[in-house]
Amino acid sequence: MAVDTCWECGTQRELRSFFPIPSKRGGRKSIDLCPPCDARARGRRNEGSKPAPGVPYGKRRQGRGVVDDQAELEVIRQIVGMRGSGMSTPKIVAELTASGFRTRKGTEFNAGYVWRILQREEEKANHAR
Ligand SMILES: [Zn+2]
Repeated sequence: MAVDTCWECGTQRELRSFFPIPSKRGGRKSIDLCPPCDARARGRRNEGSKPAPGVPYGKRRQGRGVVDDQAELEVIRQIVGMRGSGMSTPKIVAELTASGFRTRKGTEFNAGYVWRILQREEEKANHAR
């Protein structure tokens, strides 16, 4: 296996994929960045229309309010459906990644991210009872 290095500083630690063009907008290529460089890259890219932090997955800011994000809701529906059919979180992550889904930040889904979405959906379901 090739040894990957951070595209910016060359370190080999905790690399993550960064999509300079979000896959939502047709980006296909990712570069590897270490967490600090990744944060700096996002800092630049997040200026502008990106959702402010704190808006949960499945929602987005619009004007002064928060509205449903249909694309993200669809991902949530798929995650909940996969869980419903008995899939483990890592399996769900693998399935999402294979299908080309990416998180809002343009990175591949990971177990923690999917887990949080499932937890939130469960909470919502409990409140609805
Ligand atoms: Zn780096």
